[in-house]
Amino acid sequence: MLVNMTKILEHAVENHYAVAAVNVWNGESVQKCYEAASELRAPMIINVSGFVKDMEWIAGAAKYWERKYPEVPVALNLDHGFDFDMAARMIHYGYTSVMIDKSSLPFEENVRQTKEVVKMAHAAGVSVEGEIGHVGGLGFCAPDENGNINFSYEEDSEELTTPEDAAEYLKQTGVDCVAVAVGTTHGVYKKEPKMDFDRLAAIKAAVDKPLVLHGASYSGDENLKRFVEGGIAKINIFSELAEEALNYSQNYLKEDDSPKIFLMEEQGLKGYKEKMIHFMKLFGQTNRY
Ligand SMILES: [Zn+2]
Repeated sequence: MLVNMTKILEHAVENHYAVAAVNVWNGESVQKCYEAASELRAPMIINVSGFVKDMEWIAGAAKYWERKYPEVPVALNLDHGFDFDMAARMIHYGYTSVMIDKSSLPFEENVRQTKEVVKMAHAAGVSVEGEIGHVGGLGFCAPDENGNINFSYEEDSEELTTPEDAAEYLKQTGVDCVAVAVGTTHGVYKKEPKMDFDRLAAIKAAVDKPLVLHGASYSGDENLKRFVEGGIAKINIFSELAEEALNYSQNYLKEDDSPKIFLMEEQGLKGYKEKMIHFMKLFGQTNRY
């Protein structure tokens, strides 16, 4: 069943596990999320970024697979929402959660724009994720003048979250959960990462809402486990899944003398799902309903 993300994250916080939030790009990737969650009896968060061309179709696919797997609690979440308009559109499409990411703006402006989205989303029963501090590595922030989103990972200044800012941001905005910068980065690490577990502990002690980790790919299983133990409730992870999907498709192309498009795609989705299951088990979200 499609549910508000707060419901999923509150259960995760109470029971000390984290839920993977994986990005999708078409109806079949949505299907794989439902399959994995059903097989593991796990709650699931489906992330949809602005680089997906038809975000309404993803909502349609999520509703279709919801009918096939009614027992699976799924939050359909707008990932890194650009602005108020985009959040409103997604809520209209049936998304149960929206992120508004104004983390590259000064504190007051981040609060101001986030608050507006919270007011609108909560009126519709939709949960909101914000971000304070700034997780680097994400090249796109908004569409260009033609409405195209240039999806690329670029050098992007990161700014680690302070416990004081996190507490104040939550108080002023009323968001339901918050993404914090504690040493991870989006995409591939360009320099040796420094995972700041002490900072996470201090933030955790200062706030009473679920914490979200972005940029989990290539952080290493041991570090991710420590983040879960440290109180992270939602982990955004995609680049490693996407890489595994490509590996599977490329291996298939090497091995089959007369490759078929549908088999290549099937192999890619298989790799995507296997890696997804790996992380879902690591985060402790199996057998939760
Ligand atoms: Zn992110």
